[in-house]
Amino acid sequence: MSNILEDTQFIMRKYKIKANKSLGQNFLISQKVVDKIVESSSITKDDLVIEIGPGLGTLTKELLEKAGKVICIELDKKMIKILNDRFSMYKNFELIHGDVLKVRLNKIIKDEKEKNGFKKAKIVANLPYYITTPIVMKLLEDRLDLETITVMVQKEVADRLIAIPGEKDTGAITYSVYYYATSEAILEVPNDSFIPEPEVTSKVIKLTIRKEPPVEVKSRGVMFKIIKSAFMQRRKTLLNALTNTKVFMSKEEGIEILKELNLDENIRAEKLTIEDFAQITNKILKE
Ligand code: SAM
Repeated sequence: MSNILEDTQFIMRKYKIKANKSLGQNFLISQKVVDKIVESSSITKDDLVIEIGPGLGTLTKELLEKAGKVICIELDKKMIKILNDRFSMYKNFELIHGDVLKVRLNKIIKDEKEKNGFKKAKIVANLPYYITTPIVMKLLEDRLDLETITVMVQKEVADRLIAIPGEKDTGAITYSVYYYATSEAILEVPNDSFIPEPEVTSKVIKLTIRKEPPVEVKSRGVMFKIIKSAFMQRRKTLLNALTNTKVFMSKEEGIEILKELNLDENIRAEKLTIEDFAQITNKILKE
């Protein structure tokens, strides 16, 4: 078996690559971590895998062996040359040179499923950390026809993404992830699993897209706006945060709604479950 560290150093020397910090380039050099990411994604030949930010192709190589097809999306031109040199002989390899935030993933997945008969589409990535949140939100909010999203992100972000609403480590994004997916932690990854070493610990998480949302709400969009308003002023009580941001027309209206929902007047946003926010939304939209 080849040595992942030596392979990486060899490729970097051969192509005169210096990791580009502003593109979030930290290349994986741990076979254990690569194996765990691939194994936890349960990939079969029926699957279309989309890899975001393949970089030098360390994960890509393993994904190509397991998946029906791997579509890689990479922004850095230097990586494009390397990836094409390494993998263009694989029939199941496709490379898109571009920004993942601008690529029409919906269309790609739809076309691949229709034309090539893939049953499931899965995202696998060691994400560029400077845009973790926009990427995860795009993958969820665009309601892509996905089965799972297995990604490596900063540990703190991972903990927030997979927290249970109403419990600890939550933020507004926790509710979004919970609404669209169930989630699990796969593996904590130390800094020395990459070159160059990132300044933070990392974590692999897996999101499984829900078939049905966990709550019934009159408007998903309004609910998420309310959650954002509540968390923008998370040190305040929910009542004050939602009154200040005009979600409640007046404090009196807020008190009334909280009372009807059996919520304490002094409760803070982070104590609310998604069901609580759905009910607040439904009450507000009723009037
Ligand atoms: N997958 C490789 C690995 O695990 O060794 C590299 C991961 S590195 C953390 C993130 C990769 O995302 C880099 O190759 C970087 O060039 C790429 N990237 C950064 N911004 C991107 C964007 N907006 N769209 C697509 N790829 C991007």
